[in-house]
Amino acid sequence: MKSLAERDAQLLWHPYTQHQTADPAIGITHGKGSYLFDENGKRYIDAISSWWTCPFGHRNKKVTKAISKQLQTLEHVLFGGFTHQPAVELAEVLTEILPDNQRKFFFSDNGSTAVEIALKAALQFYFNKVEIRPTIIAFEDAYHGDTFGAMGASSISIFSEAFQSMLIDVVRIPVPVKGQEEASEKALKEIIANKKAAAFIFEPLVQGAAGMVMYEPEILTRLIAICKNAGVFTIADEVMTGFCKTGTLFASSQLGVAPDMICLSKALTSGTIPLAVTSFTDEIYNGFLSPDKSKALFHGHTFTANPTGCAAALASIKQLRKKSTFKKVQKINGLHLAFAESLQHSKKVRNVRVKGVIIAIELAVPPQDYYSDLRNRLYRFFIENGVLLRPVGGTIYILPPFNIKQKDLEYVYLMVERALDKFVD
Ligand SMILES: *Cc1c(COP(=O)(O)O)cnc(C)c1O
Repeated sequence: MKSLAERDAQLLWHPYTQHQTADPAIGITHGKGSYLFDENGKRYIDAISSWWTCPFGHRNKKVTKAISKQLQTLEHVLFGGFTHQPAVELAEVLTEILPDNQRKFFFSDNGSTAVEIALKAALQFYFNKVEIRPTIIAFEDAYHGDTFGAMGASSISIFSEAFQSMLIDVVRIPVPVKGQEEASEKALKEIIANKKAAAFIFEPLVQGAAGMVMYEPEILTRLIAICKNAGVFTIADEVMTGFCKTGTLFASSQLGVAPDMICLSKALTSGTIPLAVTSFTDEIYNGFLSPDKSKALFHGHTFTANPTGCAAALASIKQLRKKSTFKKVQKINGLHLAFAESLQHSKKVRNVRVKGVIIAIELAVPPQDYYSDLRNRLYRFFIENGVLLRPVGGTIYILPPFNIKQKDLEYVYLMVERALDKFVD
């Protein structure tokens, strides 16, 4: 019998993978809690929640049960002209947990489409007003997804080099990390004065794919306020930061001014069914109302508001809002802070930062490419030792499921320490 890995290699094309040099894919047969098990019976601690999707670990009983229950009544119905209980209820729940100004909800399937919809809404809002504002403002090192619009807003070059001349008009400002706040604010003001900008899109407080780059809510609040005064819509891409990862339900919950649009996906359904939502203020929604059909938002996906996905999201959000979830998040945060403290004076570490359940450890090595040789060696070392971590260049980050056992998290820390000893001079 051929292994899953061998059969995979015959037919499958994997994301972000150079198949000529990549190791064979690891065949996973099942998951449980924060563990994944491969076809040879080896166990891995999923220390990045499978790309930030499963806050309650794998095979969460409540979410699984909600999905199975929904499948007994209605698996899918088109959302053009029809509606259903899970979508209506999910929108109602979202009004309770998102900032108060978020009043209208558009469903899609993944983070990139959630971003596309926000960008298109901002651009068309002004088009409908016969005021052309073609420019989008974004941060340096941003990541907003891989479809064309989202890729244009992103700036990690390895992802989009081949398409540079075909992307939407985006101008960038520095990320307001410590010491860069004023430069960022100044750049934003200049762009607003000189360009016709429709929107400013950002990953609030933490830039995930850039290697968990972190900045403070106060400066983001200032940037949003500047945009508000100039009629530039603000889009919080919370695809990574949403659902308690930064310590509060959303990163936007920590801001003094709410953004105009919010994008959610990863973790929305606890890693079960692909689903995304873009939320809007009434002001934006009203900009599409008209007796003229051509002013409508002509965007849709076949699986928009899939009932099974909505039921999964409802079950997931219900668990998320429990006090016990916040306690788990706080506990992980405390363990991360103590681990960060222990690394603070290590010569092998350039910078260590923590927000919520996220910790990022930047190694004291020369600048690395996104998929550098060092990064690949680190990745393999962790996999050999039964830990799933995907370092970004020279940065190792941990983003565990909230229900990870303390001893497992401590084992992950131990492996990070071993990696520092082994790979950093
Ligand atoms: C992952 C991610 C996306 C893209 O989501 P997909 O579901 O992979 O399309 C967009 N924005 C951010 C911040 C992300 O982390």
